[in-house]
Amino acid sequence: MDKIINAELPDKAEDPTGFEAVVQFMLHGSCREVNTSCPCMIAGKCSKYYPRDFCPYTSVSYDGYPVYRRRKDGREAEKNKHTLDNRSVVPHNLDQLVKYQAHLNVEWCNKHRSVKYLFKYMSKGLDMAHASVQEVRRNVNNGNMNAQPVDEIETFLKCRYVSASEACWRMFAFEIQYKQPHVQHLTYHLETEQDVFFDDSEAPDDVLNRVGDAITTHTEWMTTNQKHEDACQLTYAEFPTKWVWDNNGKIWTRRQKGFKIGRIYFANPNSEESYYLRLLLNIVKRAKCFPDLRIVDKVVHPTYKSACNSLSLLDGDDEWHVALNETAS
Ligand SMILES: [Zn+2]
Repeated sequence: MDKIINAELPDKAEDPTGFEAVVQFMLHGSCREVNTSCPCMIAGKCSKYYPRDFCPYTSVSYDGYPVYRRRKDGREAEKNKHTLDNRSVVPHNLDQLVKYQAHLNVEWCNKHRSVKYLFKYMSKGLDMAHASVQEVRRNVNNGNMNAQPVDEIETFLKCRYVSASEACWRMFAFEIQYKQPHVQHLTYHLETEQDVFFDDSEAPDDVLNRVGDAITTHTEWMTTNQKHEDACQLTYAEFPTKWVWDNNGKIWTRRQKGFKIGRIYFANPNSEESYYLRLLLNIVKRAKCFPDLRIVDKVVHPTYKSACNSLSLLDGDDEWHVALNETAS
C-alpha cells in the first residue's frame, strides 16, 4: 500500500516538486476550531475526519478501511496562514499528483466492506452541471450570511451534459460495458428444500408429492460426483469451469469448449443453515450427498454451522464473512 499510496508530506529538500504538489492539492483544511466555516464542518466536526491521527505504519482496520501511515516526522507546511502536518494529508499517489497537478484522492479498496469506493463513481450519475444564482441575505440579528432555503424540487431537476466524444460513442453504438468471463449462477438449497414450481390448476397433493424431488444444479453436482472421480476435484462454485449444465436434460456434462465461472446465489447471514451451507459449498469437494457437506476430519457434523465452526470459518456469533475464499463467494 505504501508503494502506491502516500499520505504524508514529502521531504521539502529532497522532493520539492512533490512537496509543492501535496501542499497545493492534497492538504485538507484548515477546518475544526481554526476555521469553523469550512464546508467540511458538520455539527462542529470535520465530516472527513481531519486532522487524522499520527500513525507509524499502514494497516487495515477491522471494518476494512485502510489506515495510512502518517508519521510524526516534524514535517509541516503553511496553507492559508495555518500550519498543517501529515495528519491533514489526503491520501494520493505522488507520481500521479505531480503529473496531473490536480486534487487526486487515491484509496485502497481490497475489502468488500469498503465496497462503497468501488461503485461510488458508477452510481454518481452522468457528467452534469447544475448552477443557479441565489440571493444571500444578511441576518439582521447576528450579522451572519443566510443562504436561501433549499428548493429540493428545483435541485432535483438535473441537466444532462453529453460531451462530443460520448455522443459519438453512443451514436456509433459502441459497447458501453461488457462482461468477461461468463458467469453461471448456481442455485443451492438445504436437503429437500428445493423450490417447487406449480400451476394454479394442480391438485395440492400432486404438488406436495414433488417436494424435494426436483433435480437442481446443486443435487446434480453431487450426483455427478458419485459417477465421476474427476468431478470430485472441483467445488460446487468451481464446477462450471469444467462442466456444462444442460437445463433441458437436467444434467452436468464435461465442458468441450468455452469457459464459465460459477457464482452461488447470495445468502443472508440471518438465514442461518442456508448461509452456512453456502460457505461450505464454496470450499468442500467430493460431496456425494448432503451429509457429506458436513464432514470435517471424517466426522459428520449435525449442522452446517457446526461444520463451519470446526473448519474455523467463523470468528464468532457475529461473523458476517469469512476471510477464506472471499473472492470465490
Ligand atoms: Zn475538515
